[in-house]
Amino acid sequence: MADYAQILALVERYDRAIDGLEQQVIDRVNAALDASFRELEQELRRTYPQLQDEGGLYNFVLKTEKFNQLKGLLDEILPPRWQADIEALYTEAFQLASDTGIDLAGNLVEQIDPAYPLDPFSGIPVEAIAAQARDGVKRLYRYNDTFAQRASAIVELGLAQGHGTAKVAAELGRELGLAKSKAETIARTEIISVFSDSADARYLAADIGFFQWLVNPSEGTCILCYARNGRVYKVGAVRIPAHPRGRCFKLPWRREWQQKGLTDDKWLREYRQRGLEELKTEGFKPDYGPTYWEKKAGMDKAPEVIWSP
Ligand SMILES: [Zn+2]
Repeated sequence: MADYAQILALVERYDRAIDGLEQQVIDRVNAALDASFRELEQELRRTYPQLQDEGGLYNFVLKTEKFNQLKGLLDEILPPRWQADIEALYTEAFQLASDTGIDLAGNLVEQIDPAYPLDPFSGIPVEAIAAQARDGVKRLYRYNDTFAQRASAIVELGLAQGHGTAKVAAELGRELGLAKSKAETIARTEIISVFSDSADARYLAADIGFFQWLVNPSEGTCILCYARNGRVYKVGAVRIPAHPRGRCFKLPWRREWQQKGLTDDKWLREYRQRGLEELKTEGFKPDYGPTYWEKKAGMDKAPEVIWSP
C-alpha cells in the first residue's frame, strides 16, 4: 500500500518549488510596477502643485499638453515597454511549471503503483505554453485600466477638495499595493493552473482517467477545497485551482488500484475528516456547490463525485 504521508510530503515539496517560481515572476513584475510608480510619483510632485495653481481639476480634465505626461503615467502603471520582458518571464515560468507538474504526476503514479507502465511523455507543446503565457500577460495588463480609473479619480478628487501632494501620493501608493496584489494573484493562479493541467495531460496519456483531490496544507482552511478533499473526479471534468491562489493537487486514481489495496483509503478518510473538523472549529461549513469558475462556465452544480473516502 502506498504511503500517503510520504505522498503528501512529496506534493508539498513540489509545491514549494512552484512557489519559488511564482515568487520570481512576482518579484520581477513588482520591480516593474515600482519603477513605474516612482516615475509617476515624481511627475505628480512636479505637476500637482502647478495644477492646483492653474485652475486645478478643470485643467487636468481638459488634458492640456502640460499634464499629458501625468495622465500617461496614471494610465499605464505597467508600461507597454515591459510587456515583452514579462511575457518571456511568464513563458519560462509556465514551461518550468508544466515540466514540474508532469514530473510530479509521474512520480505519484510510481508511488501508488510502482508496477504501472508509464510510457515516456513528450510534454505540453511549446506553442501551447507560449499562447497561455501571452493570455496571462494580457490579463495582467488589463489591470492597467482599473488602475487608470482609480488613480485618475484620486487625482481629480484631490484637486477638487484641495488635498496636498503628499496625501494624493499616499493614496496612489495604496493603489500601487492593490495592483501588486492583483498581479501576484494572477501569477500564482496561472502558474498553478499550468502545473495542474500538465498533470492532467500526464495522467490521460498514461490512461489514468480519474484523480483524487488533495488539499495542500500550505493553503490553509478553505470551504471549497476541504469539501472536495479526498474525493475522486474524472480527469478533465474538474480544474484546479478551484479559486484564485488555490494550491490543491490531483493524485492519480484508478479503481483497480483501490481494488488491489494500493490506495490507503483509511488515511484519506482521516485526512478529509481532519480538514472538515478544522473548518468546523473555525466556524465554517464546507461548500459543496460549484466554484465561481464552474458557475461561470455554466455548471449549476459541483462536478460528479466518483468516489468519496
Ligand atoms: Zn481552496
